[in-house]
Amino acid sequence: MLEVITVTTHSRNEMVDITSKVREVVERSEVKEGICVIYTAHTTAAITINENADPAVPQDITSFFNKLVPPNAGYKHAEGNSDSHIKTTLVSPSITVIIHEGKLLLGTWQGIFFCEYDGPRTRKVFVKVVEG
Ligand code: ZN
Repeated sequence: MLEVITVTTHSRNEMVDITSKVREVVERSEVKEGICVIYTAHTTAAITINENADPAVPQDITSFFNKLVPPNAGYKHAEGNSDSHIKTTLVSPSITVIIHEGKLLLGTWQGIFFCEYDGPRTRKVFVKVVEG
């Protein structure tokens, strides 16, 4: 089963919590044991898992990445968004989460984030649920 989640971002760099949307896809699939692949087919966006209880955590991660990969550092790419591409490669465009007893096997404090690195834009995230 494959579903598409649409994510609208509001700034150039932003982490959007998509955990509840992914949970809904898993529930609709009725898969009890399997895996869920969350993948974005963009070159300037990524997917990660981290704490979603305190909003300061994604803010700190975003702030750190902006320092780690500055926007203007003599890049060759003419489009002017090499920092966005580099962040995407560092974070990765996909994650896999185990499904157990019909639920995503996430820790208490874990959430799934869509990471925007060249927004604001409307983005697509593919969620593939595989039974097994
Ligand atoms: Zn580019």
